[in-house]
Amino acid sequence: MGECERVAEEIYQVGGSDLSDPNDAAAFVVKCGADLVMIDCGAGRAPEALVENIEEAGLSPQDITTLILTHCHVDHIGAASYFRERYGCSLVAHALDADAIESGDPTLTAAGWYNTTLPKTTIDRRLREADESIVLGADQLHCLHTPGHTPGSISVYVDRSGSRILFGQDIHGPFSREFGSDVSQWRLSMQKLLELEADILCEGHFGIYRPRDRVERYIRGYLDQHQE
Ligand SMILES: [Zn+2]
Ligand SMILES: [Zn+2]
Repeated sequence: MGECERVAEEIYQVGGSDLSDPNDAAAFVVKCGADLVMIDCGAGRAPEALVENIEEAGLSPQDITTLILTHCHVDHIGAASYFRERYGCSLVAHALDADAIESGDPTLTAAGWYNTTLPKTTIDRRLREADESIVLGADQLHCLHTPGHTPGSISVYVDRSGSRILFGQDIHGPFSREFGSDVSQWRLSMQKLLELEADILCEGHFGIYRPRDRVERYIRGYLDQHQE
């Protein structure tokens, strides 16, 4: 598989369909002082490939203290129990998606659709606010509640070296009654993301977008496709 990709200063993409396993959505690590924060972790079929990519970036997987789960779909979070058990990191997810993750609900997590199962795991921190931060030393990772694709979808952003980096997984959808999707909530969520004026967008399946006007065009393109 491919090599990890540097996104910005001490931020790397370490998982994805070309980087770790064809089933994996994108996964990222953000170095925050001595801590490593991971954002999503792939489908769980090849977590060792992500570990290798983290090491290849010159980072130690032992330093992963926090794993943020952007939503409950198995292609994004299938390796959550692997990382929690192996590295002792705490799992963070929005309260509205946490039950599905903890129980491994085959429909809500799309595990049935992917012909797999989601190993049960405990969520250590349930987010409940519209904007909740994870603060590690000088770094602040904002977790915005951006419902739409699923009820508990979150988008994460961090400001680093003058750039705003947004991790917006599955902000394109898809929308399905089975997932509890809500297009009118999603439109409000996308407005929130546009207001951030992010310089770099790390998407879940379609790569990394920059600069700012391309990020904006990407989000507006989907808003145009899904009018009310
Ligand atoms: Zn999804
Ligand atoms: Zn996805």
